[in-house]
Amino acid sequence: MTEQPMPPHDHPYHDSASSPPSPANRQTGKPRGPHGRARTGSVIAAIAGNPNSGKTSIFNNLTGMTQSVANYPGVTVERKTGHASHGGREVTLVDLPGTYSLTAYSLDELIARDFVIESKPDVVVNVVSAANLERNLYLTVQLMEMQRPLVIALNMSDLARRQGIRIDTAKMSVLLGAPVIETVGNRGIGLGALIEATADTALGPATQAVRPVSYGHEVETEVEKVAEVVAREEALVRRYPARWVAVKLIEGDKQILKKVRQLASDAAAIESATQTAIAAIESHFGESAEIIIAERRYGFVAGIVRECVRSTAESRQNLTDTIDSVVCHRIFGPAFVLAVVYSLFAAIFKVADEWKWLFGKSPTDWVKWLFDDVLAGLVAGLEPDMPLLHSLLHDGVIGGVGGVLAFVPLIATLFAFVAVLEDTGYVARVAFVLDRLLRVFGLQGKSMLAMIVGGGLGAGGCAVPAVMATRTLREEKDRLVTMLVVPLMNCGAKIPVYLMLIAAFFASHKPQILFSLWAASWAIALGAAWVLRKTVFRGEQTPFVMELPAYHMPTLRGVLTHTWERVWQYIRKAGTVILAVNLLIWAAMSFPRLNTADGADQLRHSIAGRIGSAMEPVTRYAGFDSRDNIALIGGFAAKEVVVGTMGIIHAKDDSSARRAEGLSAKLAADPSWSAARALALMVFVMIYSPCSATLMVIRRESGKWRWALFAMVYTTVLAFIVAATVYQIGRLIG
Ligand code: GDP
Ligand code: MG
Repeated sequence: MTEQPMPPHDHPYHDSASSPPSPANRQTGKPRGPHGRARTGSVIAAIAGNPNSGKTSIFNNLTGMTQSVANYPGVTVERKTGHASHGGREVTLVDLPGTYSLTAYSLDELIARDFVIESKPDVVVNVVSAANLERNLYLTVQLMEMQRPLVIALNMSDLARRQGIRIDTAKMSVLLGAPVIETVGNRGIGLGALIEATADTALGPATQAVRPVSYGHEVETEVEKVAEVVAREEALVRRYPARWVAVKLIEGDKQILKKVRQLASDAAAIESATQTAIAAIESHFGESAEIIIAERRYGFVAGIVRECVRSTAESRQNLTDTIDSVVCHRIFGPAFVLAVVYSLFAAIFKVADEWKWLFGKSPTDWVKWLFDDVLAGLVAGLEPDMPLLHSLLHDGVIGGVGGVLAFVPLIATLFAFVAVLEDTGYVARVAFVLDRLLRVFGLQGKSMLAMIVGGGLGAGGCAVPAVMATRTLREEKDRLVTMLVVPLMNCGAKIPVYLMLIAAFFASHKPQILFSLWAASWAIALGAAWVLRKTVFRGEQTPFVMELPAYHMPTLRGVLTHTWERVWQYIRKAGTVILAVNLLIWAAMSFPRLNTADGADQLRHSIAGRIGSAMEPVTRYAGFDSRDNIALIGGFAAKEVVVGTMGIIHAKDDSSARRAEGLSAKLAADPSWSAARALALMVFVMIYSPCSATLMVIRRESGKWRWALFAMVYTTVLAFIVAATVYQIGRLIG
């Protein structure tokens, strides 16, 4: 680490002035200056930074768009764009995925780097956490090498100050060749100045050019030689800075090598120059060229930190460290996770269902009242004259959709608690604590984060973003294994099925049963991962350093926004997909018509009834009758449909005198139902096929239909085996 932190001024620096108009210029058709930059109109700025540096907070605050502010990956994987203006300056912002580096090893990193290098934004805004400067600057160094105009948002400056860290921003700005603006992203401090600096850097003359890091004399000599050969290739330098290509080639970057082979007229010359350079570096240092270059980058970063950061010694052990020494402890840590999840489940039933704190009723009572009394009463008048329309409204809409919406209070409470946990930073700790356990089963820390996104904390999850979150995994095998087990987590859509059956058969043990289902989903997912690792995906695990963001006090607004977004998604799904599938199923249960008043006979006569009955000889081993089969088939579309369909079926059951009662009450009173059957149904719903949306995403993310099909088949077979076992044992016990 003897590297001079000051970049020398004498090594070749290819200004973008030498490159012809970039693709981005042509797209927008705006007049550009000699540096390939926008002269008028909106500037395009890419926001890059480490995960948890506060990118999303800054992006949201600047653009006013409500985007999820969460600590897990996957949320910013999709590229988000927004507009910001300040002091007459206009900037179009693109939120890149959060990454620690810009290698070609992970999809996220590739997405971020390709955007900067190929789309050539007018300026890159690098969000850097001041509380974790050293690690964050590693990315900065790599951005500098791409030679786009750069602005540093020194975020978390409040946190750094509290930790006694002082940063000399003026000096840092000189050393990096980029403006450094202190910000507090979640409270919008410094963002006006950030926009001004961003627009000015993009539009102004390149007085403060970003300088690439120097790798020291020996490496620089070799980089120069390769860069010279690269520079001869018109097609290459039109798209990439020659020096950047040279460094990447020496690092052994396969992606760039591929590009060179595609674009260069004499790729062989470049490759042989690269080989010579690598050999020279390796013989000089006795280490691989890739390692030497990475070391130099760290050296540069260490230098910057040494030059610009003053830390007051007394506040070294901060609050975050103190909490972490308990929460991340080898033994207390996992115990704490269990305690948190259990309390979560216990609390939601109290708040949403048991305490009559809302004008004499619980929130759940109110929703039930709305559907069972008010709405059912409204359509009751239709029954004598228009029985089919009444059946459609009463059974299909109120029974189906109402059955799903009845769980909104519970789900909303659950989402709110999980949002608090996410915003404090505790969710990242859960990942850290369980990482060790995961490795035993062939998964790794980042898989853990995907599983939490998928509902691994017991709530609020969805397998669709979870499958997308696997993009942060480097190894293809790690990715596929994670993708295939993530749908086993208890996502938000399975929860209403559990809640309905728990209310019917385990009313005195609500939190305990929900907790057991949570533990079971983990056991099954880990078991499945272990088996997949031993069979289909054998291979080495990749190491990964887990990062722990500092704790934050969640803001009320943040928690409410988060909760509302998810609740609204749930409600909207109930009103669209679930409603459509339920109506389809209602029709399948109502036709062909039979001239009878007996709902049970009609059901047996219908298409759905016949399909359900045909499956019964097999499914009865798990305790499922033809009506459960219909509901479970509907569940392939989305798991909420299971509750909806059961609502329709039991609303149709005219022979019962319990029309006005909720589904749970009806099932509890039905002699053909038992706790064993309920339990079997719950584990079946937990395990069986990912919903259609998840299957589509698995297909898209894995690139193959094969994996989507595999995910569907293996889970359904496994679900049946487990459910049948549970049912048979349950019956023996009674
Ligand atoms: P991203 O992963 O980079 O998109 O980071 P987020 O925007 O999701 O922020 C992660 C966490 O840090 C959230 O809980 C934010 O509220 C919080 N946060 C963001 N910026 C700041 C800041 O400047 N100071 C403090 N104390 N917290 C921040
Ligand atoms: Mg984010």
